[in-house]
Amino acid sequence: MQDGKRDRRNGIRWDHVLVWTLATVLTAAAIWLLLQLIPEDDADVDVLLEETTAIIVETETEPDGAVPQPDIDVQLLTVNDFSRPGEKTDAIEKIVIHYLGNPRTTAQQNRDYFESLKDLQDTSMSANFVVGIDGEIIECVPPGEIAYASNSMNHLSVSIENCHLDDTGRFTEKTYESCVHLAAYLVDQYGLSREDIIRHYDVTGKECPLYYVEHEDKWEAFRDDVMNYIAECYAAAGQ
Ligand SMILES: [Zn+2]
Repeated sequence: MQDGKRDRRNGIRWDHVLVWTLATVLTAAAIWLLLQLIPEDDADVDVLLEETTAIIVETETEPDGAVPQPDIDVQLLTVNDFSRPGEKTDAIEKIVIHYLGNPRTTAQQNRDYFESLKDLQDTSMSANFVVGIDGEIIECVPPGEIAYASNSMNHLSVSIENCHLDDTGRFTEKTYESCVHLAAYLVDQYGLSREDIIRHYDVTGKECPLYYVEHEDKWEAFRDDVMNYIAECYAAAGQ
């Protein structure tokens, strides 16, 4: 018995050692190769997502109406749970008009605020577009992707937030003009009608956009201006 035990302890099977060593080396090499194929961190994945989305958006918004595309400063938000979930809308059936309720803030400040929500992690808010006091338009979330602006209509609409100078919420002339142009462009692109231009108020009863809730005639005039602009573009195009 004593001899037998000693024999087993010292009887190293060199062929087994060789096989196990080879197997270990090969497994390590395979894991190393796999790691090379995986992007290093989430930032890379986000960039990939953004590039893919940009390509999809480019194809989807290829102009096919008569209303020219307004100047749009595209500054897409990072995909995140609080301002850009990265989910497709079910359809685009409405254009929803808002006001920010925060006088004298710029389009850029509001866009940057939406972006910061990914770090604050306690508020969900955004819009597809923000129109500034000087008429500048910033795109935060591509149309066809959900933004957090219009509650139950988020999955069926494009949202336009508007900056304003004072508590009345009245748009400046430049904001108004850009908002009309942008709304006209979207109505034209997505084959919508006058009735599809709505206010946040029409979705939830919230007083947004305040001035155009308190002045129903100004709201109807806004819708008329959008439709007249579209008609002018078609007339100019001879259609
Ligand atoms: Zn609103």
